[in-house]
Amino acid sequence: MPAHDVLIIGAGLAGQRAALAAADAGATVAIMSKVHPVRSHSVAAAGGINAAINVADDWRSHAYDTVKGSDFLGDQDAIEVMCSEAPGEVMHLEHIGVTFHRNESGELDLRAFGGASAKRTAYVADITGQAILHVLYEQLMKYSDRVDRYEEWFTTSLVLDDSGACVGVVARDIRTGAMETFSAKNVILASGGAGQCFKPTTNGLICTGDGIAQAYAAGAPLMDMEMIQYHPTCLVENGFLITEGARGEGAHLLNADGERFMEKYAPNKMELASRDVVSRAEQTEINEGRGVGPGGVGIYLDVTVVPRKRTLEALREIVNIGKDFAGVDITREPIMIRPGQHYIMGGVKTDIDGKTPLDGLYAAGEVACVSVHGGNRLGANSLLDTLIFGRRAGEHAAARATDMRMPTATTSVQRDDEKMIASIIDRPREGRRISEIKDELGTVMNRHVAVFREEAGLQQAHEVVRRLKEESKTAYVDDRGTIFNQDVLGAVELGYMLECAEAIVVAAIERKESRGAQFRTDYPERNDDEWLKHIDINRNGDDVPQVSYSEVTFTQWQPEERKY
Ligand SMILES: Cc1cc2nc3c(=O)[nH]c(=O)nc-3n(C[C@H](O)[C@H](O)[C@H](O)COP(=O)(O)OP(=O)(O)OC[C@H]3O[C@@H](n4cnc5c(N)ncnc54)[C@H](O)[C@@H]3O)c2cc1C
Repeated sequence: MPAHDVLIIGAGLAGQRAALAAADAGATVAIMSKVHPVRSHSVAAAGGINAAINVADDWRSHAYDTVKGSDFLGDQDAIEVMCSEAPGEVMHLEHIGVTFHRNESGELDLRAFGGASAKRTAYVADITGQAILHVLYEQLMKYSDRVDRYEEWFTTSLVLDDSGACVGVVARDIRTGAMETFSAKNVILASGGAGQCFKPTTNGLICTGDGIAQAYAAGAPLMDMEMIQYHPTCLVENGFLITEGARGEGAHLLNADGERFMEKYAPNKMELASRDVVSRAEQTEINEGRGVGPGGVGIYLDVTVVPRKRTLEALREIVNIGKDFAGVDITREPIMIRPGQHYIMGGVKTDIDGKTPLDGLYAAGEVACVSVHGGNRLGANSLLDTLIFGRRAGEHAAARATDMRMPTATTSVQRDDEKMIASIIDRPREGRRISEIKDELGTVMNRHVAVFREEAGLQQAHEVVRRLKEESKTAYVDDRGTIFNQDVLGAVELGYMLECAEAIVVAAIERKESRGAQFRTDYPERNDDEWLKHIDINRNGDDVPQVSYSEVTFTQWQPEERKY
């Protein structure tokens, strides 16, 4: 049985950064990913990464902006760690070969981003995630003697020992269909977000919340699950993302009357208010009949006000996206956008070293909730989160491994998972198709658990999710083979998505106030007296999840009214 000091599930930025850090600390490391590492969703990150590296800036200002962006739900100890370590991390990336954009004096250039009081977003045109991910992968190649890679392996479960500590995982080799148990002193979940619970979403097809659901099934609490980010600028047709970098470079948002309506909602920051604020403003304009395009469901993003040369240089990816997916040349005419699901602030609850309450189990990146984003994540803070807490989790797990005996994971979980997969393959071709259920899930979540929420809609969404959970138990797959059977993995992923969706809905029903991305039309005010606390969600067998609360950590900044 393969055995490692540190086994990392997920090879996006969080996973690769964790692997490099754990290997540097002397651990034997393995990294596992259901797709080739450079196809992880991190590759799609466009706009950039935040760090107060300008001499006129200060990490405390970055931290304050993050606290305010989070609507005071973020844990300030974690935010201080992230923001104070950011400049060093970005310089480290630059030193290992990330070709960040430079200004005319040869210094790292920084662009403006939403909710930030200074220009502090370092970028590589609008392919920042791709640039960083490829450089980390180069490093991983260099570490071939120290880091084993399981590429195109799909983790199906975490394995616990009798004391409840995590001691390994079960995984399926996608190429052959063979299942195997891996022992590990520590497992780091770095398996990304759960955007596919919504339709449309900016997230890749692989963002199905696997790690969130696996940790939850193993007994780890989830936190801040109600906090779902809708990004203000997604293509109306398919939810593709137009990076916030566009507004950072100066693009305007216009309603059907040609008005820069953000004046009414955020007179100081305008288009660069935080994402929850801008998305709500857009949705209000649309709901009140000032939307553009067929059915008035869109808003115009006008990039033509940015000098064309600059757009072609600094926003070239979205020039292509505009042409290829909307038939619009953004350098010459406005493009129609609307708010779309983009990011999950919640996830597996961890401390500032990535530790979950389960011994031996860590989480970092979008799968985790530290919580640095609280009620709303600032643009360009997620890449930073993945790297800072990926590194810290890697270092901490490696240190924990030093005085430990290698555990041997039981193989009974593997037998259960083999039976589970065989039973999916054996289902008669009646019942519903996996894709139909997924479609209904995404549609209902996008209808009722979106920018504006209220009790009746949330209850309806919960009922639908409960029904879909039942229907998914008999949903059938077409492919009955073993080689690259993505069909059966799609069925397993659907189960993960339904678990995540239920946790999201239950938390959204629970929080009876409006804060950050959670706006309840039936409770439109923020209510610090009752709700300045995290909502934790624990699994409760097949029943509705259990809700409890935990405290928000404050260090320097007391809650105040949030205006942009
Ligand atoms: C279109 C888009 C643009 C974005 N732009 C920005 C930006 O400019 N700046 C910013 O800060 N943030 C941005 N974000 C957010 C940010 O990119 C993500 O939050 C971040 O990259 C997530 O990284 P990660 O390492 O946590 O997970 P991911 O990069 O999603 O990687 C997850 C990994 O887990 C693996 N995995 C998942 N499940 C399993 C399983 N069952 N078995 C084995 N492996 C598994 C996957 O194969 C993958 O390797 C953007 C997001 C999107 C969708």
